[in-house]
Amino acid sequence: MSYSFAKYLDLLRKPCKPCPSKADGIYIGNKLLEILAGENDGVGLAANQIGLDSSVCVVKVSRPIILINPKIVGKFGRSFFQEGCLSYEGDYVLTERWTDIVISDDNHTNQLFFSFKKNALECVCVQHEIDHLNGITMFDRAVEKELFDG
Ligand SMILES: [Zn+2]
Repeated sequence: MSYSFAKYLDLLRKPCKPCPSKADGIYIGNKLLEILAGENDGVGLAANQIGLDSSVCVVKVSRPIILINPKIVGKFGRSFFQEGCLSYEGDYVLTERWTDIVISDDNHTNQLFFSFKKNALECVCVQHEIDHLNGITMFDRAVEKELFDG
């Protein structure tokens, strides 16, 4: 059975509180991965999408990654992608994203690097989930469709 994300939409408009500890973050991250596993086309999930006000998100494209208090510390280039979101089922938006990003978080000793050219879906998903934690949705990143029509 699919999870019901619709009741937490209000939470997606405000930034999450920092996660107080790595143990809390891992606990929430595992819960997110568990819910994500039940969603057919889900590749990422943020804590506020399931009603938790804590800066934790997961991405599962090439491998499962739990990010605790993640921040984008480096960003380069720009790329376009058609995105969906588990909280807005059936909606797709053309967005503008960074081509390469460097992430720092409390769950990894080293910074993480994601490249649109290497794995576009994963690179966009990381940005999409970190946006959620900051109260930003894919609709805020939408680009004008006319740019591509002519
Ligand atoms: Zn989303």
